[in-house]
Amino acid sequence: MAKILIIEDEKNLARFVELELKHENYQVVVENNGRKGLEDALNENFDAILLDLMLPDLNGLEIARRVRQAKTTPIIMMTARDSVIDRVSGLDHGADDYIVKPFAIEELLARLRAVLRRVDIEKKAQQGPSGQQKVVRFKDLTIETANRIVHRGDGKTVDLTKREYNLLMTLIENKNNVVSRDQLLNKIWGPESNIETNVVEVYVRYLRNKIDIPGRPSYIKTVRGTGYMVRDED
Ligand code: CA
Repeated sequence: MAKILIIEDEKNLARFVELELKHENYQVVVENNGRKGLEDALNENFDAILLDLMLPDLNGLEIARRVRQAKTTPIIMMTARDSVIDRVSGLDHGADDYIVKPFAIEELLARLRAVLRRVDIEKKAQQGPSGQQKVVRFKDLTIETANRIVHRGDGKTVDLTKREYNLLMTLIENKNNVVSRDQLLNKIWGPESNIETNVVEVYVRYLRNKIDIPGRPSYIKTVRGTGYMVRDED
């Protein structure tokens, strides 16, 4: 069941779209505020985002830009203004498609199906012709590499964002060795990025929140002043 995030401040419209999507068996989360919507988009894994352009706190273009820096979740912009400039800037900022308000719900559903189908095709391509999942195991974690799903020792399943996944895999590839913050930045955000090293700490926190079992020591050890490591044995 695909999970959809709606970021829309017109509550009646948001509610209407929510009900229609639920009727189609989608799982739906609604945010009426730009900043909260961005937080959800970054911290959870959605299959697609329906994003309004004009929003309180943070506008849709900025949300699209920031989501796109971190992940590939398809974004459909919903804009009231049917000008070429808006469409172009929406697409420039990382939106995959746009729909002009007022729209027919059937059109929105069709566009949503189209972006979801595309993602599905991309996923299958990544899995290779056999469609088989490659699985990596570390301690009691089982990681499905094609869809970035982690099965934890306590039976829970979590899905990782691309960056969280890359972070975890980098640490596992270098297990029993310390990986410095700079190495992680370089590997995950690229040598050209102007991102500050504390972003690594933030992502390590996201990752720990997802993969660690509450009450047990973290899989990821902090090596003070240097970086992070995972170890076969504690
Ligand atoms: Ca609005």
